Amino acid sequence: MSSLQDLPGDSSFPSLQHNNLPDYLFDSDSEDSMSSTDQGDNKDKDKDKLDPEVLKDLEKHQGFMRQAINVAEDALAGGETPVACVLVLKGEVVARGMNDTNRSLNGTRHAEFLAISEFLSKYPQSKLRETDLYVTVEPCIMCASALRQYGIRCVYYGCGNDRFGGNGSVLAVNSDKGLEKGYPSYGGIFRKEAIMLLRRFYIQENENAPNPRAKGNRELKPVV
Ligand SMILES: [Zn+2]
Repeated sequence: MSSLQDLPGDSSFPSLQHNNLPDYLFDSDSEDSMSSTDQGDNKDKDKDKLDPEVLKDLEKHQGFMRQAINVAEDALAGGETPVACVLVLKGEVVARGMNDTNRSLNGTRHAEFLAISEFLSKYPQSKLRETDLYVTVEPCIMCASALRQYGIRCVYYGCGNDRFGGNGSVLAVNSDKGLEKGYPSYGGIFRKEAIMLLRRFYIQENENAPNPRAKGNRELKPVV
């Protein structure tokens, strides 16, 4: 198979149609999507709660997440799915990554992999033990596992990924029993901004589609 992104008409691979992104980006008739019911609103409030560990140094965390959001804005401007991250070592951003799956037609080129690759071109892998990741969307299961194997110190993310998240939403790859040491993970930093970026991307994509699929085009929710 030449491309993980091209599996036309195969509904058994729903994850690949949206770059492993959360379902709540879309209004859909599926049961697990977020709704505007009271239950949905309450769930949303919980997701906006920040961990006390994050609140201790909120300005610092927001500053680094802002940089990840800015990289995601660049991705969006370039027609790429706006998911991005930065790696922070000793208080400095030392590597950046943005999703590159659309341009490269390579489903493994997630933001985290690109950032790790840049990091390893400058530092030995052991330095990742002192390095934190700020990523706009919860790492998927693949990236969560890679981050653990590479020995990341801590992960901070914007919005959760209720379909493919590997830091607790679907599987807790970061903290489950395993061979490598796990890592702590905190979500919710600029969560709404991260979601809005993704929605803007899919609105843009739908508008540019030459031949919109009647059933495949789900309505994007205009507000978070
Ligand atoms: Zn990933």
